[in-house]
Amino acid sequence: MDHWFVHKFGGSSVADAACMRRVASILEADTRPRLAVVLSACRGVTDALLELVQLAEQQSTEVGAGLERLRLRHVGLAEELLDGEPRQAYVERLGRDCADIAGILHTVQLIRSAAVTVRDLVAGFGEIWSTRLFSAYLHARGRRPRVEWIDARDIVTVEWGPLGPGVLWELSRTRTLSALSFEGAATLIITGFIARDAQGLQTTLGRNGSDFSASIFGALLEAAEIHIWTDVDGVLSADPRLVPDSTVIDSLSYNEAMELAYFGAKVLHPQTMAPAIARGIPIWIRNTFAPDHTGTLICEHPTSGPTVKGITSIDRIALLNLEGAGMIGVPGTAHRLFGALRDHGISVILISQGSSEHSICFAIPEQQAGRAEQVLRVSFESELRQGQIQEVAVNRGCSILAVVGDGMAGAHGVAAKVFGALGAAGVNVRAIAQGASERNISVVIDGRQASRALRAVHSGFYLSPHTISIGLIGPGVVGGALLDQMASQAERLMRDSHLDLRVRGVMSSRSMCLADGEIPLSRWREAVKESSEPADLTRFVEHVHADHLPHAVIVDCTASAEVAAGYPAWLAAGIHIVTPNKKANSAELAFLSRLAEARRQGGAHYLYEATVGAGLPVIQTLRDLRETGDRIHRVEGIFSGTLAYLFNTWDGSVPFSSVVRAAKAQGYTEPDPRDDLSGMDVARKLIILGREMGLRLELADVELESLVPDALAGCGPDEFLAHLPEFDAPMLARLESARARSRVLRYVGTLDAAAGQAHVGLLELERSHPFANINLTDNVVRFVTSRYDQNPLIVQGPGAGPAVTAAGVFADLLRVSAYLGAKL
Ligand code: ADP
Ligand code: ASP
Ligand code: MG
Repeated sequence: MDHWFVHKFGGSSVADAACMRRVASILEADTRPRLAVVLSACRGVTDALLELVQLAEQQSTEVGAGLERLRLRHVGLAEELLDGEPRQAYVERLGRDCADIAGILHTVQLIRSAAVTVRDLVAGFGEIWSTRLFSAYLHARGRRPRVEWIDARDIVTVEWGPLGPGVLWELSRTRTLSALSFEGAATLIITGFIARDAQGLQTTLGRNGSDFSASIFGALLEAAEIHIWTDVDGVLSADPRLVPDSTVIDSLSYNEAMELAYFGAKVLHPQTMAPAIARGIPIWIRNTFAPDHTGTLICEHPTSGPTVKGITSIDRIALLNLEGAGMIGVPGTAHRLFGALRDHGISVILISQGSSEHSICFAIPEQQAGRAEQVLRVSFESELRQGQIQEVAVNRGCSILAVVGDGMAGAHGVAAKVFGALGAAGVNVRAIAQGASERNISVVIDGRQASRALRAVHSGFYLSPHTISIGLIGPGVVGGALLDQMASQAERLMRDSHLDLRVRGVMSSRSMCLADGEIPLSRWREAVKESSEPADLTRFVEHVHADHLPHAVIVDCTASAEVAAGYPAWLAAGIHIVTPNKKANSAELAFLSRLAEARRQGGAHYLYEATVGAGLPVIQTLRDLRETGDRIHRVEGIFSGTLAYLFNTWDGSVPFSSVVRAAKAQGYTEPDPRDDLSGMDVARKLIILGREMGLRLELADVELESLVPDALAGCGPDEFLAHLPEFDAPMLARLESARARSRVLRYVGTLDAAAGQAHVGLLELERSHPFANINLTDNVVRFVTSRYDQNPLIVQGPGAGPAVTAAGVFADLLRVSAYLGAKL
């Protein structure tokens, strides 16, 4: 005889008339003769019915209207799907049911309380209405053989126990045989969710119980396959509402599916599988809205897949901790503890006990926390009084995150990866449990961090791209060039490295543009122009540091001290910072200590390669030298592209002031050339390097020779340029005196480690000196170290300009991404 095939359609698959038409087409496309089709109530109906009971208990006047809304919704469906006599019959039955329900609810209103049986009875009407309607509709279409409406209460008999509903198999099987006494082709339309107990009273299989119904019928009918149809493409590697990048899992073992379902993968009811497992029936999870997708296969021996298949979370968990030296070595404490909880119907989700036996901690649903605490205080009353147990601590608002996969057994490094990903995302782990099956690692974390934790671990296992939430402050020449460079690389980074650099905010000095998803990099200029939101640094940073994204980076492309003042707070909150802004690192040492402390506190990265020499590897080189044990004796160089240009091009044939004017016209100087000529910029770079070398230098410690004549320090920029020629003569004298000794003038910064000194000023150098022969605006830095002694290490190249500076910042951004786990 032909095998039965079970199809189950969840509430979302039968939400409205269009959905029902889709379901009918799916069934008609299945040419196998014997189909058992389990349906849920139309989406939201069970919730609505249960709410009516609750309203009745509260004696609300809304009850009647609520019931009428439900009736009308089903009448509407019937009008769309049925005609003539079947429609009339359906609407009449519906009317009678609603009259019955109104009577029941009226009683509840009088008593002000509803017994479980009453609640179950009312809740079950949703499935009766959806299946009656659908079977009449499918019958009328006439494309499936023998459409029969089956009331599961005539068949499925269960007994509720502490572990939920248990099926009375013998009785149910006998009832199946008598209800389905026909042979051959048939299409059974079966009510999900509802059943009867041994006394004949109606009961349910618990919320989301239609999955269980499907599996029970699969077992009773000895079906060949069970197909659970829902609104997603299969079991996903994480809840798609929390991790939008989750992907469909091809296949799962029964055990894996069970763990995922138990730990919150809502797509499957955890009890669903037991009857199917017992008979080895494969279960498919498929999408009603995309029936061509293969879906997920759940079976005994799936084809091997990734080590970790899925990551789930359950919210609203309380963590209880029983602590006391008196428990050490005393047998039976756990027995008493869990026995007491059991006696009060409190189910424990996770247990963790350290081998010291000094404490036992366990997780339970939050709404049972108060009762559990009371139970423990009573059960261990004398131990608490005598101090053998010091405390019963209750921590509400937690979540459990579970990482599931058969492949974890015997694989090394999985736990390290979980904790590494959580650590990098700044998520604190409160308790840990790993079953000896090694199929599941569960951690208890702060509920507010659940979503961020889920995403961090998910991308940690490369189940989804590594997502970094980025906020850029200062979309000027450097910031703009950076955004353009990111735009050009985004696709490649996503493809090759699975790295998702998501710019979620751009802020200028006046306005800011925030995006919940991301600002499209290809048109960031328009997006920024169109946004009219006034700049607000606090709100900007809060937005970028979204709870649901594991990592946040602020890229500060301003030269603002005010923005830099925010760094300590951001780092302490775990926000990473990448910047070419020199203000923070050249501020007073006390501020730097605060930065360092905040970094430690928040576990955040702070990178600033582009503060010196733009994109040239200056800071990283210095760090590498120190960290590999080299000793730095001296660092010197030309650190200002502007001053390099002025002295490279000035040969004395024209006055110095006209070279300055020409450089300004070509955009080689700051708007006010004194910002370059003062040497302050070089001094800042020098102390950044000095501090990197371990020298405790303040800006005031730098011996600085400014090229701005004292007399012109206080005037306006135009006046400055107008009067500069008055100082050409002494400048020319210096040049000529250098030349007389075959030397050139260069503006050089020098750090001397032994003397702990920094000097910035105009030096006379031999023509053969490396600093005497650089191109136009090049920077050059020379490291004299123990290893690079006779022949110092030199880094040289363009040290200014938007493209190279932006590239230096970009490289830092990628470095942070790599620190956070991206495979670059
Ligand atoms: P139905 O109405 O079909 O019974 P449910 O709402 O009960 O559907 O279950 C499907 C929903 O489960 C999906 O829409 C999805 O949002 C959610 N879900 C949670 N975790 C997962 C997961 N790991 N894989 C797939 N779906 C999940
Ligand atoms: N309708 C029931 C519920 O919402 C059962 C189900 O849909 O699986 O819980
Ligand atoms: Mg469901």
